[in-house]
Amino acid sequence: MHLKTVNLMGMNFINTDMEQLVDHLDGRLAQSENIFLVTANTEIVMHARKNRDYYSIVDTADLVTPDGVGVVIGSKIIGNPIQQRLTGFDLMMQLLSLCCEKQYTVYFLGASPEVIERAVERVKREQPDLEIAGYHHGYFNGEEEAIAFEIRKCEPDIVFVGLGVPKQEQWIAKYRKLFKKGLFIGVGGSFDVLAGEVRRAPVAWQKLNIEWLYRLIQRPSRWKRMTVLPIFLLKTVKARVLRKNL
Ligand code: UDP
Repeated sequence: MHLKTVNLMGMNFINTDMEQLVDHLDGRLAQSENIFLVTANTEIVMHARKNRDYYSIVDTADLVTPDGVGVVIGSKIIGNPIQQRLTGFDLMMQLLSLCCEKQYTVYFLGASPEVIERAVERVKREQPDLEIAGYHHGYFNGEEEAIAFEIRKCEPDIVFVGLGVPKQEQWIAKYRKLFKKGLFIGVGGSFDVLAGEVRRAPVAWQKLNIEWLYRLIQRPSRWKRMTVLPIFLLKTVKARVLRKNL
C-alpha cells in the first residue's frame, strides 16, 4: 500500500491516519524490510534546515510522520493539508500492540538507566505477551558500536531509539546498515513518558493542539527550542505567498 505524502519545507510528510500507517508498517515488517521512520516536529524540520548533515540523514528516511501541531498548521497554510498529527509516542504504543498480536520482537534503546528499566517494567506489566528482544540505556561511554552489534544479535523487528534529536536519527543512519531487517524509529523522550518521569498532556489539551504548552509548563527549559515554531510558521506563510517550497 502506497502512502500519500505532502511536501512541506523540503520534507515529504506522510498524510494518513494512524490505522493506515500501522497497517502499512505491518506489511513491511512482514516482508522483513529495513525501514527508517522519522517522527518530525517543527524542531526537527528547523534543525534539518540549519544543519546539512542532519538534513542528509533525515533525507535517507523511508517515512517521515507529522509529529507536531506546527507541521499540521504549516500544511494548511501551504494549502496542502495533512489529515492529522501522528506522534512518536502514539505510534510506539500502537506498534507495541501490533507486536503482541503478530509476535514481532522489539528493542528499546535510550533514556537514563533508571528510566529505561522503569519503562520496560511498565511495558511488561501492560503487554505481558510482548516479546522484548532487549533494551539498553542511551548514555554511551565509548561502547556505542558494541551496543549496536549486541542489538543486531537480538534480531529485533522494531528498534525504538529514544536518544533525543539529533542523536537518535544519527544513530539510526549510522547503524541500520548493520541490520538485515528492522523498523527503526526515533521516539525522543517517549521512554520518559512510559516510565512516568514526564507526563503526557491530558487528552483535552492534545485535542486543543496545545500539548506543546503542557510540555513547556513541565519543562520550562524547553522554551528556547520552541521559539522555532513561530519561525517555522512564518516560513510556511512565505512559501505560500511565493508559491514555492522554501
Ligand atoms: N538521551 C539519551 N542519551 C543522550 C541524550 C539524551 O538517551 O545522550 C535521552 C534522554 O534521557 C531522553 C531523550 O533522550 O529520554 C530525549 O528527550 P527529549 O525530551 O529531549 O527529546 P525530544 O523528544 O524533545 O527530542
